[in-house]
Formats: sequence, C-alpha cells, structure tokens
Amino acid sequence: MSAAASPDYEMVVGLEVHVQLKTRTKAFCGCSADFGAPPNTNVCPVCLALPGALPVLNQHAVELALRAALALDCKVNATSVFARKNYFYPDLPKGYQISQYDRPLAEKGWLTIGELDDGTPVRVGITRVHMEEDAGKSVHDRYAGATAIDLNRAGVPLIEIVSEPDMRSAAEAGAYLRLLKQILSYSGVSDVSMEEGSLRVDANVSARIRGATQLGTKTEVKNMNSFSAVERALDSEFARQVALLESGGTVTQQTMLWDGAKGETRASRTKEESHDYRYFPEPDLPPLVLDMEWVGRVGRAIPELPDARRKRMIGEYELSAADAELLTASAGMSEYFEAVARASLDPKAALNWVMGEVSAAVNAAGVRIDEFPVRPADLGELLRMVREDVVSHTAAKRVFARMVETGKPAAQVAAEEGLQKVGDDAALVEWIDEVLRENPAEAARYKSGETKLQGVLVGLVMKKSKGRADPRKVNQLLSERARV
Ligand SMILES: [Zn+2]
Repeated sequence: MSAAASPDYEMVVGLEVHVQLKTRTKAFCGCSADFGAPPNTNVCPVCLALPGALPVLNQHAVELALRAALALDCKVNATSVFARKNYFYPDLPKGYQISQYDRPLAEKGWLTIGELDDGTPVRVGITRVHMEEDAGKSVHDRYAGATAIDLNRAGVPLIEIVSEPDMRSAAEAGAYLRLLKQILSYSGVSDVSMEEGSLRVDANVSARIRGATQLGTKTEVKNMNSFSAVERALDSEFARQVALLESGGTVTQQTMLWDGAKGETRASRTKEESHDYRYFPEPDLPPLVLDMEWVGRVGRAIPELPDARRKRMIGEYELSAADAELLTASAGMSEYFEAVARASLDPKAALNWVMGEVSAAVNAAGVRIDEFPVRPADLGELLRMVREDVVSHTAAKRVFARMVETGKPAAQVAAEEGLQKVGDDAALVEWIDEVLRENPAEAARYKSGETKLQGVLVGLVMKKSKGRADPRKVNQLLSERARV
C-alpha cells in the first residue's frame, strides 16, 4: 500500500520538536547537564524534588532559548510564564514538569524550507517556542524484570518548537527537520543529536481530500529515532489513514508508535490523549520578564546562519551553489573548510580535500569534525606543500593518512616517511631504467615510437617511487630515454 496510490488525499503534517539546550548546568539547579555520567550522579535536592527545595532559573538556558526563537523569526514575549504540567510517571519525581503553557517565550515564527519552481518560498509557520525541563529516564534493560530510574536527565533544559500543520509530504517534513537542525547547530543552541536524545521529534499527521480546507482527524506519531524514520513513519501512517477513510472508516485521534523493524505504526496502549495535565502557573517561579534591550543583544550575537553562510561562501571562495550546500550541511564542516582555505590560500584544493579525503576519514573514524585529529592549519600546510612542489599529490594522500593516525604536522610526517618529492635526475633515471628493464616489451614498443605508452610507464615509475617522483620530470626524462 503506498500513498501514491491514493492521489485524492493529501497529507497534513505538523511537528513538535524537543531540543536540549547546550548549557553547562540544568534548568533550575546547578547540577551538570552532561550526557553519559553514571546513573543518578548529577542530582541534587531541586531535581530530586526533595521537600522545600526551590528552583532558580538558569539564565544561559533563557539566552539559548531566545537565540533559537530569534533564529526562527519568532516574536518574543516580554513576559512569559512557567507552568506546572501535572502527570504521574516513575521518572518524574515532582509529579509535574515545569513548562510553559498559555504564555510561552516566543510565538509566530517561520522557516523557509525551499521554493517552488516559480521562486515562491515554501514557508512552515512556527506556532511557538517554549522552555521546559526534561524528565528522568526509565531504564528497562539493566535489571531483569525490573525498571531502574536514572534522574541525571531530570531538570535538563529543553525548548519545544511547535510548527503549524503546514507540511504536505514526508519530504517536506524531512526538509523542515534538516533545516531546523542546521539552524540550531549553527546558532550554538544545541548539539541536536538524535542518538543522544538532544533532539526528539513527534509528528501530528492527518489525511484530507485534496482541496479541502478543514483538517482531518490527526494522530500523533512517536518513537522515531532518525529523520528518515520520521519520513517513513509519516508515509506509513498516512497510507493507513487513507485506507481507513477509503473503506468508509474514521480515524481515531490517538498516539501511534513507529515500529521501524516492521515498517508500520501501531496504536500505543497508553491512552495519552486522555491526559488532563491540569496546568497552573508555577508558584515557585516568578513570571519571566525580559529586558528587551538584552533580547536585542542576544539576537545580534547569533552566529552566521546557514543561508547567509552559503551566500557568503559562494562569493568569497567562488564555490558552486551545490558545493556550498554540501559544505554548509554542518556548521563544523563549513568552519573547517574556511580555515583550510585561509591557511592554504587555495580554496579549490581546500574544497576537494575537505569533500574528499577529510569527509571520508571523518566518517570512517565516526568522529565529529571538531574531534578530527588533523587540524585545519595542518591540512593547509600540506596543501601549500603540494602547491610548492615539496610533495606530489599522490604522496600528499599518504602524508594525510599518517597525519590522521598520528596527529603530527604535515612537514614532520613527510620528512619522517621520506615522502618529499624527488626531483633529483640521478634518482629518477634509476627508477626509470628499472621500470624499462622490468617491462622489456613495453619499453621496446615505446622506443619504437608508440608514444601512448608514456602514461603507463610514468605511472609505473610513480608507483615504484611510492609517489615521490616528480611526474613532470619523469615525463621529460622518459622522452629523452626514448631517443637514446
Ligand atoms: Zn539538581
């Protein structure tokens, strides 16, 4: 069953994205917000909800939440209010979550996710950006037959970004998420790692006859662990709803869980839609009243965003739009490229190396670009050595591989490994003669005028020299040998 088989229906999607803010400490106490500490070590009376403990708002969390709101062109509310969202769950010691409800931090923003053929921008509205704290974590696989609770995450600062139901396909939802992730990463708001849980996506999806203005009954789809899982879950849930509607049934408003292995959504057993959170203003925190002067300063301090960076890089380094798009996919990669381009004074070479060798090595090592052992200045030095003919292009790849292994600078590796270019005639002639001796048939044909063999023979000399021979000189010397 595929969505394409039902052209009369269109998909309507709105997304709720929870993002962990990149603060050192939690939202309302001084505990570390780091991921990966031993269970229940980052806790204190406030986040354990001990009687009498009072929350104090983390200013850095507010600043990062504001950055996100402003980067998404939201209107910031001078006064917003924290509220208690009441529900009972084992990993929620207070019995409520501090969130924002009817007076959120910011509202009415938008994200341009592309453009139509005629140049009209495709915009997705942002309903609201509000601050809240995370709950703890129930761990089901640590002790057989028992559930353990880790409260390190309880009280970690989050923002929830709620979109309007403006997306009409899984691909549009994917484009929105990728762009949102890019913007949050560039603006330094969050690590936005789905693996570490610092970005989580819930999707509201409904189906309606194309052209209808009323929204159909929606379901909420959860449990997706990647953007591609979101896209597959949306297509699958949409197909399920369309089949239901076409057979005369109705869609029930409920929570659906994505089962990636089976490739289908199934109804959650918990009746989440029946929750009544009994929101009321948090009595332990005063309303958040912002100094709009400070808000302005936070906005002006937002680092360059992806769209602006793409445009600048196209002009500054004469990149194609496609290359700029690829380079700016991650903030780290585009910063790395710019540093290499500046250090080498050769943006073309920097582009080739960053998109080729560097990307491959980073992926192979499974590290982030800022953890990659070859720093941009060192790669810049290697590219200068290539341009100044100190190492050949082939040898440079070997130098680079050693730099990845050892983290040593280019010149040191080239010297230690004897990979500097050999332009000395005597050494080159020796290699050439060896190659001619080892390949007598080719040598004879070459000497009798079959000049197209020159490339093959040069290649063999390069191989024999382990890439160190200067190919220009090898060519020249080889032609001279042919005339002997
Ligand atoms: Zn704490």
